[in-house]
Amino acid sequence: MHGIIVRSQLEHPRQKARIVSIYEQLGLEPIINASGAVTRLGGSPMPEPVLKAFHEAALDCVPLEHLQAAASKRIALATGTEAGLVTAGSAAALTMGTAAILTGYDLGRMERLPDCNGFPNEIVIAREQRSGYDHAVRAAGASLVEVGFNEIVANAGVRRTETWEYEAAFGPQTAGVVYVFSPSSAPPLEEVVACAHRHDLPVLVDAAGELPPRSHLKSVAAKGADLVCYSGGKAIRGPQSTGILCGRSELIGAAAIQMLDMDDHLDLWAPPAGLVDRSKLAGIPRHGLGRAMKVSKEEIVALLTALDLFTSGSYDAQLGVFRAWLETLQTALSSAAATTSFIEHDNGETPPSLEVRINEPRLGRTAFEVCHRLRAGSPPVYVGHGCLGEGKLVVNPTCLQEAQIESLSTRLREELS
Ligand SMILES: *Cc1c(COP(=O)(O)O)cnc(C)c1O
Repeated sequence: MHGIIVRSQLEHPRQKARIVSIYEQLGLEPIINASGAVTRLGGSPMPEPVLKAFHEAALDCVPLEHLQAAASKRIALATGTEAGLVTAGSAAALTMGTAAILTGYDLGRMERLPDCNGFPNEIVIAREQRSGYDHAVRAAGASLVEVGFNEIVANAGVRRTETWEYEAAFGPQTAGVVYVFSPSSAPPLEEVVACAHRHDLPVLVDAAGELPPRSHLKSVAAKGADLVCYSGGKAIRGPQSTGILCGRSELIGAAAIQMLDMDDHLDLWAPPAGLVDRSKLAGIPRHGLGRAMKVSKEEIVALLTALDLFTSGSYDAQLGVFRAWLETLQTALSSAAATTSFIEHDNGETPPSLEVRINEPRLGRTAFEVCHRLRAGSPPVYVGHGCLGEGKLVVNPTCLQEAQIESLSTRLREELS
């Protein structure tokens, strides 16, 4: 849909239109987000072509199942999978993927979710891969069965979860496996998939935040995963409330009909064959578990536009600008009670970050206190807060605007001198 776009199209629209912030009208002061595309702070800024697509999509109506079928084709192409679905975030993709695994095309099961009495609902997960996001898996009705230990974190051992432990947990109540993907996940996804498939069990992979690199869009599914989830509102820069579920067409179909609005007559209902295999359904289900996680036509179209920009490499054009901003901040902090260093990524796609290691004794304040004061100031500044315990702040440039760099420099210098 779009080729490489010029940088001005990626610039924050506020830089061009000097309008009073809509947030100010609501009594909120917009923040300086130096924390990255995190959900708590509203996710990533949508590029102008994405906003334009959102606006354009709002002007007409289309049947949502046909739009999801068109989205499925695009997602399948971008991910090398059979089919895809735009979901209400990656967390919703986890819920819908789990629902599909639990029900398949069984109408009775769809109607009962999240009650799974009478059919297998155990999902096996490595204990070390558990997080707040697995609530989304349990929300579909699954019961998690943990395997392995977290003994490295506990400093009580040297081993991580092993594939035999998954296999040992499989039984008549097992419905599938959930695997949280990162380049350092263990055991390797391929091994877990091979083991699960020996028992005819599907594997649902959470790869929500594992973009970039763009190669992960295809490589995760290529390892044999049956379903994979990605966030649409992180690196892809689509609407914050979107996500992608992709994988085997039968599972995507089962997820789609449990998410779409189903208020139609059996005789009239003609779902697109590319999305739903009508021949496998004994009837037409009513609203399913995912009806509470609906996605709008505008969100679907905007996400597809963002996915196009992401896969075409358009965002790489900004890396140099990000680097220059961080260098400006580094210079501004040269005499502060902190040492700064770049966190680099070797994939040529992930923006660098600036790590600010605070000399807490010299400053007389902890990193927690600095973080708190930055948030409480005006404008409020939010920095990466994942390493505060080690005395470090992290500045992620992804959501910053050119016009904010000067105030950000000033606020950091004030709090760190
Ligand atoms: C961000 C994230 C999610 C949730 O994604 P949303 O798109 O915000 O719903 C799930 N799992 C992991 C590992 C994440 O990083």
